[in-house]
Amino acid sequence: MTTNRSKQPPGIVYLVGAGPGDPGLITLRAVECLGRADVVIYDYLVNPVLIKHAAAAAELVCLGRPTTGRTLSQVEVNQRMLEAAQNGKVVVRLKGGDPSVFGRGADETGALREAGIPFEIVPGITAGLAVGAYCEIPITHHEDASAIALITGRERDEKEESAIDHEALARFPGTLVFYMGVDKVTQWSQGLIGNGKPPETPVAVVRWCTRARQQEIRCTLGTVAETVRDHALRPPALFVVGKAVDRAPLRSWFAQRPLFGQRILVPASQTTSERLYDRLAGLGADAITQPAIRIGEPGDWAPVDDALDKLDQYDWLVFSSGNGVDYLLRRIEDLGGDVRWLGRIKLAAMGSGTAERLARYHLKADLIPAQFVAESLASTLVGDAAGKRFLLARASRGREVLAMELRQAGAHVDQIAVYDSVDVEEPDPDVAAQLAAGEIHWITVTSSAIARSLVNLYGDDLGSARIASIGPVTSSALRDLGHAPSVEATPQSIEGLVEAILRWTTDERLTIRG
Ligand code: SAH
Repeated sequence: MTTNRSKQPPGIVYLVGAGPGDPGLITLRAVECLGRADVVIYDYLVNPVLIKHAAAAAELVCLGRPTTGRTLSQVEVNQRMLEAAQNGKVVVRLKGGDPSVFGRGADETGALREAGIPFEIVPGITAGLAVGAYCEIPITHHEDASAIALITGRERDEKEESAIDHEALARFPGTLVFYMGVDKVTQWSQGLIGNGKPPETPVAVVRWCTRARQQEIRCTLGTVAETVRDHALRPPALFVVGKAVDRAPLRSWFAQRPLFGQRILVPASQTTSERLYDRLAGLGADAITQPAIRIGEPGDWAPVDDALDKLDQYDWLVFSSGNGVDYLLRRIEDLGGDVRWLGRIKLAAMGSGTAERLARYHLKADLIPAQFVAESLASTLVGDAAGKRFLLARASRGREVLAMELRQAGAHVDQIAVYDSVDVEEPDPDVAAQLAAGEIHWITVTSSAIARSLVNLYGDDLGSARIASIGPVTSSALRDLGHAPSVEATPQSIEGLVEAILRWTTDERLTIRG
């Protein structure tokens, strides 16, 4: 039997719907595909938070808005997918909502079919249907709406005749949901009225539906164009037109959550930020974060490749993070190998997250320490260390504790940097712009170090937001820096911090209603 080693078998492209934006509204299948992806190409409509489901080593390609400054044209996107898949990669093409609803999915699968690249399509919740749940609009209703129409409000410029059959839609016995309707709002609304749809038909305009920044405005078919103008509304927005709109409460369950409408910057910290972020987001806040570190390929693969060449000489391979697992296993793949290269080597994983990452590659950790710190791993391994050979796969600046303790116990230890980790020292341009525009309502500050780093990154623009401080030491550092906090946590904990923000916001709402 002969095998053809020169030709890579093609990879696969998953055309995946990411849902309308709320991170929980993505399917399990989509999460699985993202976990496997080598390359993720995603649209501006996709909530970037969802990228956390992809491996750290995956290549990410974010496309801009189709109208303003898309980074790649449709042809280039197709080309990129084809090339990656032809090189054996797993590609996820991630699209907002459902890929088959105004998603140009067919253009992309057509190109793949023609090139003989295997693909799968994963549906998602389309925005026009999610609006029913998140704005409590009964888009079908036994009295008011026996059908739903999903309609594009965009006309192709070169077409002389309208793409929209206004006459049929004016007679449609149900709810009309317009996608991409901002630019041509006058045309489609007047088109419907001209064909007999009453101008007083209720309309809900919903921007960033299901995202924490969701915004809903009520008007009528007769006033919708003016409403778009007055509020300077920009895409993405949906227009829900029909009697069913009048059955919705003015503030849905989603908009009623206590911190809805509050945009809160949660600066990344090693221990607290994830819990704080989840807690605030759970209360309806538009929580945003910025990573404190950025990771990427190591500057030099040579030491890694050398170690891989003589893997059979080691007794233990130790991973200190899930990122390390991803980078090392992908390197093996890039070199044309697979998990069999690991042979009989024993695997140690610092923490259950690292062990789970190994499991994605069908590898089982032989050892996970009771506590997820280097000291604990060292004390577990030390008994068996004398005369053994260890390979530690870690970040470019990892802690030295493990290597030191193992060496003291008589082990031979080699360390390889399988990924690079650097502090983010430049301000995030998005956060900077939002602070300068006064669009961030709160900043949580959980240590004096974070207070100083924020002042270095954003300077006086911090003054546009209220500051919530974790406790007296942090508050005094903030005062010294000229940014006195508006609230301080009591008790001094994540819960106390959240409570303090909640109390202020509730008091403020009461005062305004007066
Ligand atoms: N495939 C997507 C639609 C893509 S067309 C889906 O199934 O949802 C892009 C248009 O979809 C936007 O201009 C807007 O009209 C609508 N849209 C998508 N997501 C939205 C959201 N979260 N909020 C409001 N409109 C949205």
